Amino acid sequence: RMLQLGVEPERFDSLQGQPLDGRCLLREAREKALKASKEKTGKKDVAGYLNLMANSIDNFTHGLAVGGSFLVGFRVGVLTTFAILVHEIPHEVGDFAILLRSGFSRWEAAKAQLATAAAGLIGAMTAVIFSGARNSIGKYFLIF
Ligand SMILES: [Zn+2]
Repeated sequence: RMLQLGVEPERFDSLQGQPLDGRCLLREAREKALKASKEKTGKKDVAGYLNLMANSIDNFTHGLAVGGSFLVGFRVGVLTTFAILVHEIPHEVGDFAILLRSGFSRWEAAKAQLATAAAGLIGAMTAVIFSGARNSIGKYFLIF
């Protein structure tokens, strides 16, 4: 019966529950064309790069928080790290979706997100270095 209507069964399945009107089909075609052109040229939306930049800054501040909290005490450090990890799960999933929508492939999005994680490490090191510098200056003055 579906074949009589000129619609392939698998196509009919993907459209199930949606009104088969012209507007819906038009939007679908436009999104497909947009996706195809992105895949072809490898061009990505600015939104994707903005998201990565924001994510790097966010991870940097998380790194500062983790590094700083471990300096306060081991228990505080573990608790802070746990809280940030839990907070990061929905965060990174959302960012992953934004990157995919911006024209990144899954692999590119995963690599880009790993790169932003490096900003977190830099943040943690910044916290430790700055406190360490202060301490070493303090020790230096204690010796003399
Ligand atoms: Zn975050």
